[in-house]
Amino acid sequence: MEPTSIQKQEKPTCNYCGKQVYGREGKKYCNVDCKNNYNSRIRSELRTKENQFFPEAFNQIKKNYRILHNYKDQFKEIEVIYVEKQELLKLGFDPQYCTKAYVDDQQRLWKNCYNYSWSDYNDSFAIRYGIYSWKS
Ligand SMILES: [Zn+2]
Repeated sequence: MEPTSIQKQEKPTCNYCGKQVYGREGKKYCNVDCKNNYNSRIRSELRTKENQFFPEAFNQIKKNYRILHNYKDQFKEIEVIYVEKQELLKLGFDPQYCTKAYVDDQQRLWKNCYNYSWSDYNDSFAIRYGIYSWKS
């Protein structure tokens, strides 16, 4: 069957923004920005799908890490910072989820989220950055 005239006239459109694409045949994007945006949208969709597959604990640990990482610059000056628990909890920090735990010389329990660790300190969390582990 002959293709209809409408199919023949159909102009190629950009995979990302949907605008008409000019140039060589088979071109899928108007420019490199649209191509990059399209690819990063695909990657972010894949990441979302992947995150749905992981247990909730895994996502919470990643969230905890992102929240703690916002304080990274403060560790240039000092070893331990104190952040009010309310501040971290409001950001979605959940101290139940950690990657490991250790007890320091003062018998204080520290929980780790990769290279950050925190400990209860009254209404605050004491937070350290670096790799610490059990004293033998
Ligand atoms: Zn485009």
